[in-house]
Amino acid sequence: MSVLDKFSLAGRTALVTGGYRGLGLAFATGLAEAGADVVIGARDAAASKEAAARLAEATGRTVIGVGLDVNDRASGQAAVDAALEATGRLDILVNNAGTCVHRPSLDIPDEEWDEVFSTNVDGLWKLSQTTARHFTTVGGGTIVNIGSISAQIVNRPQWQPAYNASKAAVHQLTKSLAAEWAPLNIRVNAVAPGYVKTEMAPVDEPQFKARWIDDAPMQRYAVPDEIAPTVVFLASDASSFMTGSVVVIDGGYTLH
Ligand code: NDP
Repeated sequence: MSVLDKFSLAGRTALVTGGYRGLGLAFATGLAEAGADVVIGARDAAASKEAAARLAEATGRTVIGVGLDVNDRASGQAAVDAALEATGRLDILVNNAGTCVHRPSLDIPDEEWDEVFSTNVDGLWKLSQTTARHFTTVGGGTIVNIGSISAQIVNRPQWQPAYNASKAAVHQLTKSLAAEWAPLNIRVNAVAPGYVKTEMAPVDEPQFKARWIDDAPMQRYAVPDEIAPTVVFLASDASSFMTGSVVVIDGGYTLH
């Protein structure tokens, strides 16, 4: 097998949460281009189906969109079942769905804190457990969690304490599940992106330039395509001896 063959995902199926826009769409696209069939799942079922149709057309892979709320266990099981029905298998879970709120701590209502944690941590946990239960019936699988540099730095000038704490939880849960599930042949890794231009992150607004861009050694933000190859790598046999790793991709932002 050549080294590039190890990156191939031909014959495998991936479920990408929040995969119709932003980073998730780049991940779904990268996985399909690497040969995987893909299920895109988010609460906006119509947007998920539209993105899936476009990606199927562009790549020739089987790509379907489903309505999925990662907080809802029945919905998560339905997404797993949809993958099995459409492609006969499920090998890869990319936990990409996430949300962020900018607000000073003293002003945060409980509902807002709960929304961030329930999406970024509880939802990731529930779908990982549901999917891993399937993986145990087929000899294994891989999970790629989307963490953040916010797990290890405090972003400025805006305050986002719930998001920062939630992503620290994602990194530690990645390690915890990796250790526990290694004997089950389930690998669990994460990527920790820096600033990436998406609807969530207003990286090109002037008020953020001094802290987000000028402070970064590479002096720029990323586009989603620059994060996707690492997700493909972590999903594939090219990373067969990696589990519990958190790969930082931030243009050097966390180096100082
Ligand atoms: P976007 O806001 O553009 O996309 C988030 C996606 O998640 C949407 O498709 C949304 O769809 C989906 N989603 C939200 N809540 C749920 C839910 N309960 N169930 C299922 N899907 C859900 O964000 P990004 O592309 O910027 O971010 C993607 C991931 O990358 C997140 O985990 C984020 O924390 C992380 N990240 C982003 C960085 C950045 O600079 N952009 C940097 C580091 C990490 P819908 O609302 O229809 O459900």
